[in-house]
Amino acid sequence: MMETVYERIVMQGRCVGCGTCAGACMAATGTGALRMAWHDSGIPAPVLNADVCVQCGTCLSVCPLCEGNDDTTTVGRSLFSLSEKECAPVEDDLLGCYRSLHAGYSLVHKHRENGAGGGLTTWFLEELLAQGLVDRVACVVPAKGPDTFFRFALLDSAQAVRAASRSAYYPVHAADMLAEMAAHEARYALVGLPCVIRGFRLAAQHIPALASRLVMTVGLTCGQARSRYFAEYLCLRCGLDAGAVDRVRFRIKDAQRHQLDHRFECRSGAGKGARQGQIYQTEGMGWLWGHDCFKVAGCNFCDDITSELADVSFADAVEEPHCHGNGGANFVMVRSEAAGRLLAAGRDRGDIFLEDVTAEPVRKRMEGVELIKRHDLRHRLHLMREAGMEPPVLRQQPQRRDDAEKNEWMELRDCLRQATTSVYAAHRHAPDAGARVEEAIQDVLARRKQKDTRKA
Ligand SMILES: Cc1cc2nc3c(=O)[nH]c(=O)nc-3n(C[C@H](O)[C@H](O)[C@H](O)COP(=O)(O)OP(=O)(O)OC[C@H]3O[C@@H](n4cnc5c(N)ncnc54)[C@H](O)[C@@H]3O)c2cc1C
Ligand code: SF4
Ligand code: SF4
Ligand code: SF4
Repeated sequence: MMETVYERIVMQGRCVGCGTCAGACMAATGTGALRMAWHDSGIPAPVLNADVCVQCGTCLSVCPLCEGNDDTTTVGRSLFSLSEKECAPVEDDLLGCYRSLHAGYSLVHKHRENGAGGGLTTWFLEELLAQGLVDRVACVVPAKGPDTFFRFALLDSAQAVRAASRSAYYPVHAADMLAEMAAHEARYALVGLPCVIRGFRLAAQHIPALASRLVMTVGLTCGQARSRYFAEYLCLRCGLDAGAVDRVRFRIKDAQRHQLDHRFECRSGAGKGARQGQIYQTEGMGWLWGHDCFKVAGCNFCDDITSELADVSFADAVEEPHCHGNGGANFVMVRSEAAGRLLAAGRDRGDIFLEDVTAEPVRKRMEGVELIKRHDLRHRLHLMREAGMEPPVLRQQPQRRDDAEKNEWMELRDCLRQATTSVYAAHRHAPDAGARVEEAIQDVLARRKQKDTRKA
């Protein structure tokens, strides 16, 4: 019996819930043998109906986390290599290949104010529609909870795209987007995290309709994702019952605070009975994020920082001279000519501010993510091998790290990820779920302190 992603990826704890497999299964076989459903770990994951599986192997060949598929460097080279008379794109081990690098922000429609960073992603997606380059854009939009707080949707108006701005630190799968693109003739754009973009690029190798219809991919930089338990736990911290919350928002900027001190908001009910809550990064949310609480386990096997396979990628530029004040700004990595042309035209019209930058500040911005997605990953693969497990064959090779401080920091974050996820999953519907998570965090920290004391 042929293996599917269910046995190879989900059961081994490596699934990140991108949904590519389920979308490709539907597009290639029409069987619906894989269906995305909430997994105990707090992410959407494929569930297999073995009775209808035709054992074609498509799901494995499109999974961004599955070893054996072309690595990201190989796919990038074939996607973005230029003809001989043009200059070759720069190949950068952290940023992927690129034609040009920029920093900037949108000057129109309050994109900057309402964006996660400088609002250039929303500007770019709107511009694709305005210029008639695409018919529909697959974006992440807020959903009415509590079953899910965000979902992918196909949008065809600037207004709808604008309403989808800001970051969703929440797991969203793109299975339906892929199936829809393969089934219906139109020109599509997709905005996504690196795994989703890679999944769609791999799927396009096998599904010709997807290859011809997906005409623009817009990537976000990704410092690893959080499960749905993160948002639910934040609701509890805000004093709301997560099961009754119908709307959450991440990354709302406050003009009175530093741009990185953004807030999470949640709301339940309507009218007089409505309740609202909020929490800022500096009120504990940033600590939870930085210590990997509720992190998606499979993200530990991902090494794509900037969405190396996207036509254009956006990151946050948070330091002077490239952030240009406190309003939010982006770094931009341009890989395809079409993306570069659109940005240059917007700059020339005065819709966006866009300056050329060198690789140095962009690489510097990626340093924190480089630690977890490259250095930690190589050491993690080494530890697997040392423990007698066969590590997956990835672009990064197993490599022991002789830096006790960094290794212990990784170990602490792993313990916190496991503790927060398992404790919240077990007590999610209990009235003291929040208190139990806090207890679990304190317990991990106390054990760490004891270990440090013993060593000293
Ligand atoms: C989980 C996550 C981790 C990130 N980590 C980093 C990081 O470590 N460093 C860094 O520089 N940048 C990171 N980013 C990207 C950054 O926060 C901004 O999204 C990016 O700079 C674009 O900013 P903007 O103002 O142009 O976006 P906006 O104009 O606000 O537009 C954002 C667009 O992204 C889409 N979107 C939001 N959430 C998701 C999602 N989960 N999946 C797919 N599409 C989504 C929205 O639909 C919208 O179209 C991360 C984003 C996410 C979602
Ligand atoms: S092997 Fe084919 S039919 Fe079976 S789950 Fe995978 S993609 Fe679907
Ligand atoms: S990582 Fe994505 S493609 Fe792979 S099994 Fe999970 S949902 Fe499917
Ligand atoms: S770390 Fe990688 S696998 Fe995880 S959400 Fe980000 S891009 Fe996807």
